[in-house]
Amino acid sequence: MSEQKPLVEMKSVKMSYRLSSGTSVSVLEDFNLTLHPGEIVALLGASGAGKSTTLKLMSGLLRSEAGEIYSNGQKLEGLNRELSIVFQESSLFPWLTVAENIEFGLFPQGYSLRTRRQRVSEAIDLVGLEGFEEAYPRELSGGMKQRVAIARALAMNPKVLGMDEPFSALDVLTADTLRGEVLEIWQRKTSKLKGILFITHDIVEAVSMANRIIVLGAPPKNVKADILNPLAFPRDENSWQFNQLVRKIHSVLSDSILGDDDNSNAQNQAALWVLPPVPIADVIGLTELLVDYKGQLDIFELPRLIEKDFSEALTAVKAAELIGFVDTPYQKVILTRLGQGIAHGDVNQRKEAINTQLKSLRIVKMVIELLQNQEEVALPYSKMIEWLQEKQPAVNAQSALDTLIDWGRYGGLFRYNSDEEMLSLEEDHPTVL
Ligand code: ADP
Repeated sequence: MSEQKPLVEMKSVKMSYRLSSGTSVSVLEDFNLTLHPGEIVALLGASGAGKSTTLKLMSGLLRSEAGEIYSNGQKLEGLNRELSIVFQESSLFPWLTVAENIEFGLFPQGYSLRTRRQRVSEAIDLVGLEGFEEAYPRELSGGMKQRVAIARALAMNPKVLGMDEPFSALDVLTADTLRGEVLEIWQRKTSKLKGILFITHDIVEAVSMANRIIVLGAPPKNVKADILNPLAFPRDENSWQFNQLVRKIHSVLSDSILGDDDNSNAQNQAALWVLPPVPIADVIGLTELLVDYKGQLDIFELPRLIEKDFSEALTAVKAAELIGFVDTPYQKVILTRLGQGIAHGDVNQRKEAINTQLKSLRIVKMVIELLQNQEEVALPYSKMIEWLQEKQPAVNAQSALDTLIDWGRYGGLFRYNSDEEMLSLEEDHPTVL
């Protein structure tokens, strides 16, 4: 290990968010992460695992509740001047040109005009934006905008480049080109840049760029795995070693999302009774797909077949498992007898089966009870959101409610008037079992 000070060190960090309802969501607990000079670290994990929160804490955009964060050995107070961030969708000012956008971040530092111009020109050169200095963001493609965002971050001459899903909004080819360019900039070592930490959903991207991959799960044991990637650049995505590593990370990630591990803490348990944010039509689609594969698929095959990324595919599997349509032993997805019935059933049989299954879920029972015990026949969407936030502070209430409405409507349990934004029980409302 290098003698140099860590670029960033997070020690016993605790972070939670306070919701408008007053409840607090714990995101990181006793969280430790160190970024050393020379490292490109990928942060992987399901949505909501706390990846963006981690990056924002490192950059000083958020303050931790407890624990310490050090930048280059100094305790971080306020913004981290040594770390610049690139976000998923480039957040450029539409009224400024490319050069002005890049220069913008340099103003608060009090640099002279000459230094600013020089930094801008170096950054433009690094990311290949020559000729576009005077263009406005609207004239640029998504890939070019993201180049400007990277140039803007590099112009600050940071020690650490933080990137939050920088390539996920781009088409495959552009994303590939930009990945290669970031690695080239890194290897040229012309700047002060000593480390990169990027967030991604894409395991292949993590293995192709990072020399260390950290997989996050739910608190309190946020770091599920910390895996070194010793493969030399340029990396061959078709090599056996590359694929071995991809499979290993797949397996850690699927354990953390499907919960086949030892993390049976209360928060994880509580989260289990929220419907994963997957439309019921996709869950039914999954049962049909499984029939095409004789009722069984390797979990690693699924993302390609349904054209989703790995964590999205796993979320769909989790949704199907929650409602009893599949089992997931040993990283296989296997259609249950009920799932077979769904796949082969007509629309009324499907609705009936889904109605029955939904009524056995705790969250659905609670919503039915809530609606039954109301004076009013229907409850406003906003009230339901508040109620959910209170019951389940750790989840995104809006996506949880949208999923509940989607599934409940299909199963003939709920009625939702989207003009008035009111939720009610179907007329022949079910009795809670
Ligand atoms: P990730 O980047 O891994 O998807 P985030 O760090 O964005 O995760 O979020 C972690 C959790 O914190 C999620 O449950 C999210 O809903 C919640 N969260 C994030 N930002 C806020 C906020 N400003 N207010 C309330 N909750 C938030």
